[in-house]
Amino acid sequence: MIRAVRGATTVEKNDAGEILSETRELLKEIVEANGIKPEDMVSILFSVTKDLDAAFPALAARQLGWTHVAMMCANEIDVPGSLEKCIRVMMHFITEKSNPDIRHIYRKGAAVLRPDWRGPERKAGEGLSGRENPREIINIAIDGPAGAGKSTVAKLLAKSLGIAYLDTGAMYRAVALKAMEQGIDTRDEALLAGLVKDIDLKVTYEDGKQRVFLDGRDVSSEIRSPEISMGASNVATVPAVRLKLTEIQREIALQNSVVLDGRDIGTFVLPNADLKIFLTASPEERARRRHKELLEKGIGVSFEEVKRDMENRDANDTGRKFRPLFKADDAVEIDNTNLTPEQTAEKIITMVKKLGLK
Ligand code: C5P
Repeated sequence: MIRAVRGATTVEKNDAGEILSETRELLKEIVEANGIKPEDMVSILFSVTKDLDAAFPALAARQLGWTHVAMMCANEIDVPGSLEKCIRVMMHFITEKSNPDIRHIYRKGAAVLRPDWRGPERKAGEGLSGRENPREIINIAIDGPAGAGKSTVAKLLAKSLGIAYLDTGAMYRAVALKAMEQGIDTRDEALLAGLVKDIDLKVTYEDGKQRVFLDGRDVSSEIRSPEISMGASNVATVPAVRLKLTEIQREIALQNSVVLDGRDIGTFVLPNADLKIFLTASPEERARRRHKELLEKGIGVSFEEVKRDMENRDANDTGRKFRPLFKADDAVEIDNTNLTPEQTAEKIITMVKKLGLK
């Protein structure tokens, strides 16, 4: 049978030496992981992003001695905001293996391309592949639409389990704030890609209080306005923003036991999370909760306004092309329209215990 294996990696610079050595490492990992012998290789296709032209990656395969294999290099489609300095590979080879047994290899920055192919499936509690100390770290993903109670429940959960909480929505809000302060349109892909490149973003959670720092400044209250909510929903449609924030979120989850809430945690950011919850509530109840929250913060808006904003955000979040909001196949859906946050958290804690995570 002829099968295909995929791989990808990234380099720091458009430098011939780095392109060739990184491609050799990628190819070696692909053949080792799948037990591919040179005589069984049929063809190898390479693509590089437009910013890499210092060397043909096929040369790396020839350097490994694979001189008889048909190979070709090409430019990848230059989609705005997509991953930069990336080398992609597809190798066809003869094998007895079935498709699900093929190990695809995504190294370095390219790990964000196919988080679902990051490594062998793990069982609950085993930790993401690549962790140094797997069993001590657990990740819980809570996704769902605005106003479903994700952050309230996530905080209760984090407190009760004695682990950290990461509000990923706050990160999108901080990006929106930065863009709006600089007069950048929150849908301008090119300018936003530049804006997030070196963004200094920190979300801390201490003594039950979350603080968000943007370039060293505490912006925790500023990011909660309805304008920022909509701005966040806009910047969240931009691939470069999502890729950058995903990188930060994965790094945090790799090092810490944490409950993360957002829209794409279970589907893209942490496809191997130990437990995935998809939290929903009726649109009226969600608008009522958000309205109450805003009034408590002293932000005077009408219920109708909140409901309309929420409908717009729902449409934006579920309708966007790149990483929209949807329930992961293996997520547990909880409709908490008629539940208190405590009851919802209790349900999830029961699941955590059942899975033996805590
Ligand atoms: O959860 P919160 O309302 O703070 O999120 C603000 C906006 O950020 C959402 O409407 C959504 O568009 C975006 N977001 C996202 N992915 C996440 C978290 C938030 O797209 N993981």
